[in-house]
Amino acid sequence: MECRFCGSTHVEPVIDLGAQPPANGLLPPDAPFGAATPVPLCAVVCTNCWLMQLDTAVPPETMFTDYVYFSSFSDTWIAHTRDLAAMAIERFALKPSDLVMEIASNDGYLLQNFLAAGIQVLGIEPAFATAETARAKGITTQTRFFTEAVGRELAASGTKPSIVFGLNVFAHVPKPHDFVAGLAALTAPDGVVIFEFPHVLSLIRHCQFDTIYHEHYSYLGLATASFVLGKHGLEVFDVEQVPTHGGSLRLFVGHKGRRPIGEAVARVAAEERAAGLDRLETYGALRKRAEAIRSDLTELVRGARAQGKTVVGYGAAAKGITLINYCGLTRDDIALVADANSHKQGKLLPGSHIPVATPEALAEADPDIVLILPWNIRDELIGKLTERLARKPDFVTAIPKLEVS
Ligand SMILES: [Zn+2]
Repeated sequence: MECRFCGSTHVEPVIDLGAQPPANGLLPPDAPFGAATPVPLCAVVCTNCWLMQLDTAVPPETMFTDYVYFSSFSDTWIAHTRDLAAMAIERFALKPSDLVMEIASNDGYLLQNFLAAGIQVLGIEPAFATAETARAKGITTQTRFFTEAVGRELAASGTKPSIVFGLNVFAHVPKPHDFVAGLAALTAPDGVVIFEFPHVLSLIRHCQFDTIYHEHYSYLGLATASFVLGKHGLEVFDVEQVPTHGGSLRLFVGHKGRRPIGEAVARVAAEERAAGLDRLETYGALRKRAEAIRSDLTELVRGARAQGKTVVGYGAAAKGITLINYCGLTRDDIALVADANSHKQGKLLPGSHIPVATPEALAEADPDIVLILPWNIRDELIGKLTERLARKPDFVTAIPKLEVS
């Protein structure tokens, strides 16, 4: 294979999570076993530009047009993006005449803050259901993927955004150069692009291997993102480390030479080098830690089941589905996975066929063990569950190592 950033063929294996169906493709309740086609899920790293990436690419159309992830279902994420909008309005002195755009604007969870402040907004969102929800909030939304052609078309029609947000989308594009070229064409000379993505440094340090799934083609850091941006005349002028998704980077990007470079850029770059993101042995430890987690978790769950205990999961997010499939757990092990998202309830997790149920059904099951799958919002979920449950179960998280509380 060729590296999707630099084209080098010098790629080395990092971790093989086995063939799995794409994680967000929930199945109808009557789907037969094997209804979802497993696709190899193997991460590799390029030893030329040091991008960690998948060695296969599922076409985005098959994953994102019928997307069932609604950003507004997480209170933590909503609070994070409200603060982000307030910061952007103040830092870049946004006025009602400014236009704020978001690529992959989902259900309008971010742009609604700018709309409320009287600022013009435009969302680009490929999934029909989420785009429709955003429009119902009054957020102008185009239902399409963002590409270089789309960026050029918008620029040619006079669209001049002051800010373009790309939150948790950079890693989701199979053709990063086409995507960044579109942003370079769209962004005004003094315009700003603000990205957020899970930091590969956090993935490596905290063994977040369950964030490796088919939607995430790339696992980014400051150095690798800067490499691609630089090919299209863009540069990172500031960077912040934010706690979302287990440790993310927020990049502030502009056209080259338009803004002074903040001191944080050199600091984070040095941290990545010191952590060895440009050395192969750094990636080698991830596989061994993941195998230890798999063995600890399956032992705990199957031991509890052997004693007649009830084990359930909470949070039918992609990372949890990846973990369950990597561990080979099925509905014999985990009776149900509850999720507050009504679009997921009643469906089956791909691969394991564990049913997705309501939080009420989880409470009725009176579980002994609740496996909290979205460990990044663990405290929020434990708080909500504790209010609902008649007795306190063992709450289990598997990342960065198995923990029972
Ligand atoms: Zn490369």
